Amino acid sequence: MVLEKIKVATDTYLVGIGVSPGISIGEISLVAQRPTVDQSPIAAVEVDAELLRFQQAVDQAREQLQAIKRAVSRQQHLREHLYILDTHMLILEDDMLVEGTKKIIRTRVNAEGALTETLEQLRALFDNIEDEYLRERRSDVDAVGDRLLRILTGVGERSIGKIGRKSLVVAHDLSPAETMQLDRSKILGFITDKGGRTSHTAILARSLDIPAVVGLESITSLVSEKMPVIIDGSNGVVILNPSAETFKEYLQRKQSYEYLERELDNFLDLPPVTTDQVHIPLRANLEIASDVVQAKKYAAEGIGLYRTEFLYLGRNEPPGEEEQYSAYCEILSQAEGAPVTIRTLDIGGDKFVPELNLADEDNPAMGLRAIRFSLREEQLFKIQLRAILRASSHGRVRIMFPMISGVAEIRACKKILYDIQAQLDQEGIDYDPELAIGIMIETPSAVMIASLLAKEVDFFSIGTNDLIQYFLAVDRGNEHVAYLYEPLHPAILRALKATCEAANSAGIEVCICGEMAGEPLYVLVLVGLGFDELSMNPACVPRVKRVLRQISKRDGEQLVDKLMSLSTSKEVSTAIENEMGNRLPDLFSQPVI
Ligand code: PEP
Ligand code: MG
Repeated sequence: MVLEKIKVATDTYLVGIGVSPGISIGEISLVAQRPTVDQSPIAAVEVDAELLRFQQAVDQAREQLQAIKRAVSRQQHLREHLYILDTHMLILEDDMLVEGTKKIIRTRVNAEGALTETLEQLRALFDNIEDEYLRERRSDVDAVGDRLLRILTGVGERSIGKIGRKSLVVAHDLSPAETMQLDRSKILGFITDKGGRTSHTAILARSLDIPAVVGLESITSLVSEKMPVIIDGSNGVVILNPSAETFKEYLQRKQSYEYLERELDNFLDLPPVTTDQVHIPLRANLEIASDVVQAKKYAAEGIGLYRTEFLYLGRNEPPGEEEQYSAYCEILSQAEGAPVTIRTLDIGGDKFVPELNLADEDNPAMGLRAIRFSLREEQLFKIQLRAILRASSHGRVRIMFPMISGVAEIRACKKILYDIQAQLDQEGIDYDPELAIGIMIETPSAVMIASLLAKEVDFFSIGTNDLIQYFLAVDRGNEHVAYLYEPLHPAILRALKATCEAANSAGIEVCICGEMAGEPLYVLVLVGLGFDELSMNPACVPRVKRVLRQISKRDGEQLVDKLMSLSTSKEVSTAIENEMGNRLPDLFSQPVI
């Protein structure tokens, strides 16, 4: 049944999540919806044929993915994303999906119906994962399910690669394989019902430099083919049927945005220094080793956070010492002498790895997560530490322990680390004896005893993503309390200030590696608070550098003094917006709505 579309008024503004910046103006290409599926009972004699039909669909899906992979590997700029296709091929081998579906077919359900049921069960499993990144990996399972359903129902593969005219693609969701097949010259932007900041569509849109707004919930039911649209990926705004006035205004915004973007390239080779000559290294956060390519592209000075938990995902066995050693060495060789901060496994809580058989916990965010897990599973921890130590002889490694909440914990980590150093000495294996040891500051207790912790380590790195959650008692993944998740809460400013002061007086370095570090609006405040370095998503580096080079540490300190007298997050954010708007009006003008 074709749903009657609602008549869309001129200048209909919709707000979603802006995941890739830039402005595009054009017409819509609506990518077809999912195939509809009937679940029907089958006769006992039909079961074998249905099982065969399902297996053939799985084989065909694998062949399709291999063909896409061959085509994509010929495109230099997309090669780094090939792992997504490998993930899809792995999902096609997954027992829960394949054997789970076959089991349902054996209860005399047709293949499409059985597959749909299995996908629903898998979706429910993913919905219970709190970590945003991991939860969004559900979209990979959906994409594989969609591919299989298209084969089974004969709907055929939809291909955005076949879009014939320059347009803005609107879809319920876009699978990474589809996003990769696109003809870049035809796509002006992405708009989807689904998705979040860390969905693959978002990651790929950013690396292809295409504006994207996701999470609009039901835009596919509002729009029609060729409808005129404007998208502002920086502010998450979509305007349907724009009036002539709005069109003119956005044309101007687009021109000034593009002018400012071209200017960003000029910052790549310039050092990250303030106008009063303070050098603040801008480092990259990595999730997978191949992200190091992005880090180099945007001229990040080394790696401020390598989230090693991503090495442990989607596999049956945790990675062994040799595998980890080569992953770390690969990053070090790409880093060409710049520091690489390797964070030990931060698993548990909102970061779920089914393969590690974590116990069910009532309150996982405060449970056996991160360093608590590593200290409990000492064998696993030792393997990782050996791999990091061995890699340290090939570059500038810094080791970092997550979620430290007391001095005893860091001492326990150091004791195990020193034991392994002694073992390596005995075996005559090289490592860097000067290896810097650091901790994440992300619990309230760590902030309160920062001066004690500072005596134990060489550097601090503040993980604001968690610090905000634990300090304000607001689950970082719970949409019902998202309005309370306020990076500029006066309590957070005080926590950051106290930690920087403790580090500065102990003479150790203090970095910030939570999402706050990549927000250009906060640069003046962070420099004023006394951070020695900022670590962020690599794509944020040029934008942060552009601001950094136009502000002074002295002005930052004055702004921080002023902010400390304010009582609410709103007052703090207004003060920062005004300050930055006055200093750099081109960069910090307010969006229209
Ligand atoms: C943080 O908590 O700010 C952080 C950088 O760590 P993660 O997001 O990996 O928990
Ligand atoms: Mg954290």
